[in-house]
Amino acid sequence: MIPYGRQSIDQADIDAVVEVLQSDWLTQGPSIDRFEEAVAARHGASHAVAVCNATAALHIACMAIDLGPGDWLWTSPNTFVASANCARYCGANVDFVDIDPNTWNLCADALEAKLIAADKAGRLPKVVVPVAFSGQSCDMARIKALSQRYGFVVIEDASHAVGASYKGKPVGCGDYADMTIFSFHPVKIVTTGEGGMILTNRPALAERLKRLRSHGITRDAALMTEPSHGPWYYQQTELGYNYRLTDIQAVLGLSQLQKLDQFVARRRELAARYDELLADLPLQLPTRQVDAESAWHLYVVRLKLDQIGKTHKAVFEGLRAAGIGVNLHYIPVHTQPYYRALGFKDGDFPNAEAYYREALSLPMFAGLEKVNQVVVIDAVKQLF
Ligand SMILES: *Cc1c(COP(=O)(O)O)cnc(C)c1O
Repeated sequence: MIPYGRQSIDQADIDAVVEVLQSDWLTQGPSIDRFEEAVAARHGASHAVAVCNATAALHIACMAIDLGPGDWLWTSPNTFVASANCARYCGANVDFVDIDPNTWNLCADALEAKLIAADKAGRLPKVVVPVAFSGQSCDMARIKALSQRYGFVVIEDASHAVGASYKGKPVGCGDYADMTIFSFHPVKIVTTGEGGMILTNRPALAERLKRLRSHGITRDAALMTEPSHGPWYYQQTELGYNYRLTDIQAVLGLSQLQKLDQFVARRRELAARYDELLADLPLQLPTRQVDAESAWHLYVVRLKLDQIGKTHKAVFEGLRAAGIGVNLHYIPVHTQPYYRALGFKDGDFPNAEAYYREALSLPMFAGLEKVNQVVVIDAVKQLF
């Protein structure tokens, strides 16, 4: 089976992990700082906070802006459930903004229309979570302009977009989002096994995020409510979690980061080749925005089912039977039973629902060999 995604681990990654295992620090040691500094520098952010996964990153990002009961978080229905669940962890409400039928990203026009209505109803969101679906940025310039007009925070879920760029600058640089979230899950662009990071240019947020990832504890005398009792002293000033990344993971991340440009270049090459060799088939291929360079976490096609004469499910199953590990990103989040129980229903976000009925993720990862990509393309052609 050719998987839809997988990690690329080399000897340098393995050596780095072995070396840290023989060192004094297995967790929250010097490698964490080095990893944070390297990710911040590569993406042009002034601060980066490493955590145990992107879900935890989204959670404490919401906590850091005091999202709570009565508040609203809006996101795209075409995402992994974590982009919405972070609000629920904080007791806040979730709503969605439908996708653009071409980019499959949260639609800025739909966002504006929904903001105008919410403003009249006195129910503006406290935070909007645009998701850089498949590795391509949303229309962040417009989303930022709307955030300034309507006063919401932007937490960009760039779990797919490590190494991507927007308007000539790296995603994560902080020009358009208050905080940017990266995931280092093995199917993503670079991996730490499990891992996540929050990038921000706002020092107060970075400081709070560091506290929240470690029980709400501070060792900084300036942040304490009374003078230090001595060198052992620390204070818990709020309720945090243990969301730390280990040094074992951080050194893997540092080693992987050195290959980020190479991985993204390889994914771009594969995407260009898919574009070329699938062009004549009854498929809607991914749209490229003029100002966004995707990191190509996913290569998604939409089936023109009326021309194919097979159901979506039959195509999916046919490719799996041919050894192609196709996948489907995403089941619209609002149709999940948990969200239906909160009042969402079919028809609420028709573009995301129509997309779901036709979408298919083809294998896409840096280690996908040319011959295997040809196997994928031939299998698709055969099936049609
Ligand atoms: C993978 C992913 C997450 C969650 O990442 P983890 O590191 O697995 O917690 C969140 N949002 C999106 C869009 C993702 O693809």
